[in-house]
Amino acid sequence: MTQTARGSVEIASARSETFQSIDPRTGEVVGEHPIHDAETVNSRVASTRKAQREWAELGFAGRKQHLDKWRKILAKRLDELAGVICAETGKPLDDARLELVLVLDHLHWAGANAEKVLKRRKVSSGVLMSNQVSTVEYLPFGVVGVIGPWNYPAFTPMGSIAYALAAGNGVVFKPSELTPGVGEWLVRTFAEAVPEYPVFQLITGFGETGAALCESGVDKVAFTGSTATGKRVMASCAQSLTPVLVECGGKDALIVDSDADLAAAADAAVWGAMSNAGQTCIGVERVYVVEAVAERFLEMVAERAKKLRPGAEPGAEFGPITMASQVDLIREHIDDAISGGGRAVVGGRDSVRPPFVEPVVLADVPEDSAAVAEETFGPTIVVQRVRDADEGIARANDSRYGLGGTVFSRARGMELARKLRSGMVAVNSVISFAGVPALPFGGVGDSGFGRIHGADGLREFARTQAVTRTKFKIPLNPMSFARPKSTVGTVVRLIRLMRGR
Ligand code: NDP
Repeated sequence: MTQTARGSVEIASARSETFQSIDPRTGEVVGEHPIHDAETVNSRVASTRKAQREWAELGFAGRKQHLDKWRKILAKRLDELAGVICAETGKPLDDARLELVLVLDHLHWAGANAEKVLKRRKVSSGVLMSNQVSTVEYLPFGVVGVIGPWNYPAFTPMGSIAYALAAGNGVVFKPSELTPGVGEWLVRTFAEAVPEYPVFQLITGFGETGAALCESGVDKVAFTGSTATGKRVMASCAQSLTPVLVECGGKDALIVDSDADLAAAADAAVWGAMSNAGQTCIGVERVYVVEAVAERFLEMVAERAKKLRPGAEPGAEFGPITMASQVDLIREHIDDAISGGGRAVVGGRDSVRPPFVEPVVLADVPEDSAAVAEETFGPTIVVQRVRDADEGIARANDSRYGLGGTVFSRARGMELARKLRSGMVAVNSVISFAGVPALPFGGVGDSGFGRIHGADGLREFARTQAVTRTKFKIPLNPMSFARPKSTVGTVVRLIRLMRGR
């Protein structure tokens, strides 16, 4: 435990109950972490709250300085954290490094833009209140509870953590039980960079620890994970009207129009579907390709997918399935697609070799099969033929999810993008929106609501305060018991004159 002038950053715990984090490639134990109970969770929230007041008073420039110090440590020791990510998720080192490249850029953006987005600004007072000066300001909530998943254990939670801290909040972070070491590393280096403000603290454990965070009295919960857990988090937060940000799963589609650059589309489809072993919330899970180019496109996808090999060795294109139980679900989806009449163009049932799954390309699968309707979260892709791009859009939108999406079209890219019912779209590239810090990230439907990243992501972690200040007294004040009888009549005549025509 590190003692500081203003409180304590409790990283290790005196409690004896612990759990292990495991390298999914080898089964080797790579860390041991405390299982925090509700009492510890509450005490970490309380000490974060204490430190947060001074953090908020620091102002934007002061906080930026501290966030910059932390960012420089992350940049310098990027490979060290990448090693922890690899050990806990099994992903290849370069994928972990790429994840951290995004983290650094987002952390920079949040610190550099918080003042511009959140500072007090004047708005017009309008005709009725023209004697007022009206301002809007975005003030920190207090303490934000961040609950993260394991698939991008640094990038995903940092989309909340960086933006919440830059907005002046304290953060208590509960990483996934599969990636506690990544959470511990982030919190420890923040404490190294900013020892005087222990506003970023850690709790570890299983679902119960996350549930305790929801009930701890935090001022907002930012959850990223599955839709099922998201619903539980919301139900729990409803008891205390704690606001929530819910970033859940997806079933993102890629539309290939007849005029698309097919090689680029095939490349994007395979990378979007198979990188990180398909364990990407905004990964490509379905492709709707226009009939006229479908055969050629499918050949190109197959050619690329066949070359990919999962493994634990440095040259492997992707790693294992991090969460062992997901393997069964991936197998079920492949089985269901094939037994429903779908074609296995690359791989098939035998591609599932735990902890690895080899690339699987399925085609012409019934639309109601699990492989088309549910999140698979594996290195699989379903390619479906459609009459035209509009049918592709209609089928893509016929989903309970609506996270991201991709369109490949030379002539109609932007038009088709607008028709997708999703929070984000990449036109003629894939997943690129996640690398643009100024763009908001989030979904609709079962993919959740609220936004991380960008100006919307900063405002997500602030309470809006509207203020009017009287500039001068007006002769006609209708909001007083002392108003003359004629006042309301005069105001009504005035508004009819101005707004009634
Ligand atoms: P889970 O829903 O299983 O877990 C997410 C987090 O919630 C974990 O930290 C988990 O803890 C915790 N948790 C579990 N039960 C509770 C509870 N009752 N109350 C509070 N917290 C709880 O998701 P995964 O970790 O398996 O992540 C994969 C999912 O995340 C996929 O569906 C993916 O699409 C989605 N995702 C969405 C993203 C987005 O931005 N929209 C980004 C990345 C992933 P523990 O691990 O200890 O059980």
